[in-house]
Amino acid sequence: MKLYLISIFLGIELLLSFSAKRSNAWGFFAHRRINRLAVFTLPPAMMPLYKGNIEFVTEHATDPDKLRYVLKEEGAHHYIDIDHYGIYPWDNLPRKWNEAVQKFSRDSLLTHGIVPWHALQIYYRLEEAFKRNDQSAILKWSAYLGHYVADACVPLHATSNYDGQFTHQKGIHALWESNIPELLADSTFDYWTGKSEFIDHPGNYIWTLVLESGKAADTVLQIQKELLRTFPPSQIYAFTNRNSQLIRSFSPQFVTAYNLRLNGMVERRMLQSIHAISSLWYTAWVNAGQPDLHQLSHKTFSEEEETAFKTLDQQWHGASISDRLHE
Ligand SMILES: [Zn+2]
Repeated sequence: MKLYLISIFLGIELLLSFSAKRSNAWGFFAHRRINRLAVFTLPPAMMPLYKGNIEFVTEHATDPDKLRYVLKEEGAHHYIDIDHYGIYPWDNLPRKWNEAVQKFSRDSLLTHGIVPWHALQIYYRLEEAFKRNDQSAILKWSAYLGHYVADACVPLHATSNYDGQFTHQKGIHALWESNIPELLADSTFDYWTGKSEFIDHPGNYIWTLVLESGKAADTVLQIQKELLRTFPPSQIYAFTNRNSQLIRSFSPQFVTAYNLRLNGMVERRMLQSIHAISSLWYTAWVNAGQPDLHQLSHKTFSEEEETAFKTLDQQWHGASISDRLHE
């Protein structure tokens, strides 16, 4: 009986223990919430377009994570192991892509993640879409930009120890980005971020977000380590049923205590994501010459584009359960 119980427990551990895929910054809940809330901070001239399509911008906030199941190279777009480049403020890492490639090689950069460069590239796609008055492209790249910028704001997406795998803290990734927002954001976070602002230099701005994330990563890990040491062991974990599978996750008590110890960090980074996204949407529109958003073309997605969205969704649904844990 005892052996039987042990093997059940080990089975659960092996099959269902935390397994954060490194590209899933913020859970799906938070990504959707962040893109949605960004809409409400836009200036009046942009509001009709974004409010009229708020469901699209919300729903497609998670497309880049789904894309990982279609494109192998997509993973690198969501993070950067900035600790690989030394210590804060990582001055030896050129902020410009071409210079960074020259110094470290493209392959090496891809291995350690390229979120700041990729987010900027998506920003330029959005700016181009505004210049072409292309409504469908504006909405798609707005949703995508929201995703990558929100990823850039997550400390555990700016470190190689992204799930505490080097320090016996596996599960911390989902704890920070999914468990805390899902349990506490709607009920306790103050979502008011102020209005969007024009950003003089989008590239530098995105880098600043990433550097702050990289700097905060050690604190995120350290605080949880201390809490694991002092929290009553029997109250750290809870088992929940998800998609007919028993999932081990941190208990609501532990999630709440960790959030408290972080002293509002998750809330601050979530608000910062919202503000950064709406400010970059606004900046792209201004830099494109403030086109009249009532006069756009390509207002509906083509059949091909709709099919691509559906296929992406189906491929994600078809991905293995273990790959999809803690999205
Ligand atoms: Zn992501």
